[in-house]
Amino acid sequence: MKISRSKFIGTSLAAAASLSLGSMGILTRAQKSHLLTLSFDDGFKNSFYRIAEIHENYGLKACLNVIATGHLKSFNAEPKWIPQNLLGDFNDWNKLKERGHEIMPHTWEHLNLTEVSVDKAKENIEKCLSHFEENLSGYTSEGAVYNFA
Ligand SMILES: [Zn+2]
Repeated sequence: MKISRSKFIGTSLAAAASLSLGSMGILTRAQKSHLLTLSFDDGFKNSFYRIAEIHENYGLKACLNVIATGHLKSFNAEPKWIPQNLLGDFNDWNKLKERGHEIMPHTWEHLNLTEVSVDKAKENIEKCLSHFEENLSGYTSEGAVYNFA
């Protein structure tokens, strides 16, 4: 089932409200799947495989947030901090997802949101989610957490 982007954004807001309720102790213990999530951003190939391995050694699943276009040669958002040649691609993300790890969207191209218009930011969210739907096996935006850069 494909959902509209506006529904997704609405769902995301509801999820954020739910998290707030959880942090205030309103949700019961049975409703909580976990108390703490350590997430890892951007999609550094070697690091993400190592992070997955460490989590697996403790019987845990890693939360890995990847840039949709990080694997493309055109990616050049922050070469000093995110060198394109160190990033993995959706072959890697599909392998890690098959091992049970959580792979979530972390922007289309990692722009500084203080430097782009709201329309550009929305457009990039749309492109990012579509790219995930087309390239990450079993991914649905409905159950996703969008991790802003
Ligand atoms: Zn990032």
